[in-house]
Amino acid sequence: MAVVTPPAIVILGPGALATARRVQALYAGARVHALQGRVQGDVAFSELGAHLRECYARGAPIVALCAAGIVIRCLAPLLANKGAEPPVLALAEDGSAVVPLLGGLTGVNVMAREIGAALAVAPAITTSGELRFGTCLLNPPAGYALASLAQGKRFVSDLLAGASTRVAGNAPWLENVDLPRDGDARHAIRVSAQAWDGNPAVLVIHPRSIVAAVGAPREAIAERVRRALAAHGLAPLALAALVAPSSHMRDASLAQAATELGVPLRFVDGADPTPQAVLCALDLGADIERYTSNEDGIALACAAAPLDPHTLGRARGKLTVLGLGPGRADLLAPAARAALDDATDIVGYATYVDMAGPFRADQQRHATDNREELQRARHAFEMASEGRRVAVVSSGDPGVFAMAAAVLEALEGSDDARWHAVALTIVPGVSAALATAAQAGAPLGHDFCMLSLSDNLKPWSVIEQRLLHAAQADLVMAFYNPISRARPWQLDRALEIVRSERAPQTRVVLGRDVGRPGGTLRAMTLGELRSADVDMRTMVIVGSSTTRGFARGDGGEWIYTPRWYRDDVQFKREAGGE
Ligand code: SAH
Repeated sequence: MAVVTPPAIVILGPGALATARRVQALYAGARVHALQGRVQGDVAFSELGAHLRECYARGAPIVALCAAGIVIRCLAPLLANKGAEPPVLALAEDGSAVVPLLGGLTGVNVMAREIGAALAVAPAITTSGELRFGTCLLNPPAGYALASLAQGKRFVSDLLAGASTRVAGNAPWLENVDLPRDGDARHAIRVSAQAWDGNPAVLVIHPRSIVAAVGAPREAIAERVRRALAAHGLAPLALAALVAPSSHMRDASLAQAATELGVPLRFVDGADPTPQAVLCALDLGADIERYTSNEDGIALACAAAPLDPHTLGRARGKLTVLGLGPGRADLLAPAARAALDDATDIVGYATYVDMAGPFRADQQRHATDNREELQRARHAFEMASEGRRVAVVSSGDPGVFAMAAAVLEALEGSDDARWHAVALTIVPGVSAALATAAQAGAPLGHDFCMLSLSDNLKPWSVIEQRLLHAAQADLVMAFYNPISRARPWQLDRALEIVRSERAPQTRVVLGRDVGRPGGTLRAMTLGELRSADVDMRTMVIVGSSTTRGFARGDGGEWIYTPRWYRDDVQFKREAGGE
């Protein structure tokens, strides 16, 4: 089942913070998004319109503590697709009014009622069907799907115009709803896995109650599942899951088919690779109708009530190694944010796990203080092989002196087939050198190298040799791990080597805690640089012979390395190159 995205509670000033925190307490994982420079929340943003559109586009429910009109104007360019919109509400700063704006089909009125109840105000619900019946007939509960939205709207307007209805099938959520009921009515709400026959007087709601089983994967699985369903008059929306033998866990065509069908993909262990054996291994009980479609290689089982896909076999585990960037939320890639929201378990060095949060109550943190990266990587694989969705977090980019290489090293060293069946993804992040460079200007604008000055995992002699060669090659250098209590003298020695090849006027940039609270940026020359200016939270960028600086409007200095190289200027200009 899709993870329910926690709402973004958006505020523009300190006057809204207290109300925002009260709303936050209602929703696990909800964060207060606060306008930078005005008020401190959990996530900072700098431009309201862009931020609201970003939240909306990734399907996050929005509770905006500002005028409804502002929210409408900000989201207006995105409102073409009504089916996919998340709930959007405007809330008065002082909590005196809650106005559901968008997302009638994704539960905005439910949220408006919840928030209204918590703040003791009546929600401004304007949806006529909701007002009349106290529920949205077109937004059935989890485990059910509406067959046709267009037909649903017509059905509700018929009821609003005076028609009565019967309820056919099992609809427990409608039991206490004040519908105009009549056992003989022409109109009917039908809860069934059978496809809608097009009768305009019938509102069909499908319980997600069908399992489609495949044996060995073949071509066009989704197409074959649809054909098998159609052969028995069953609706694709009634599908709860696609199930396959775990021996085929790594087959990409299965994952693609599940995505196409819009259902979770689950696996059973030890089953023969035939659809029937897979269904048997599921142990669905007696109250099941079975359909086999031999020529399509698909077996279907239909239960009387919705099936919870989480109870069917197990999922393919996921391991996502992601970079948090330097620390600021707006420098975190949306793909990394999505992996964090989707994760069941978050693994990493405690500081970074804290940086990645807050997390929902159902998400487990595995924060460690030890520097045993391999051990952490193995733990992550163990959890992922059980079907969990694990996020391993690093600061900056995970592939730059961080966890991605440790994770791959652990995997290469393992012959555990379960580890190799895990869906492993690496999501990049903004590395400290790039974040520092961007603040300073463009010191990495020409050829550069990244070096870790830590000799924990490589001999110091190798570091000395690389420094010398990089200095001789006139590369700009970005130093990671420049100094620590356990490595007090190494930086001075490194600078000695660089100074042997580079002039004292060479430009240097020091970024400390860049993109984090209290971050600083300093520009100086190589001659001025002292190791006392640097600590383990500092990025040191040493310019090349061409790196230069000039005054910027705010009194600081822009530092950059030109794209051209000395005598090549003329050549480039003539060639009309970049
Ligand atoms: N994976 C990280 C680097 C980890 S090595 C990345 O891509 O950025 C740790 C070193 O990175 C630190 O010693 C420091 O030199 C640098 N660093 C990490 N975050 C930083 C930040 N926010 N500001 C300045 N330097 C940082």
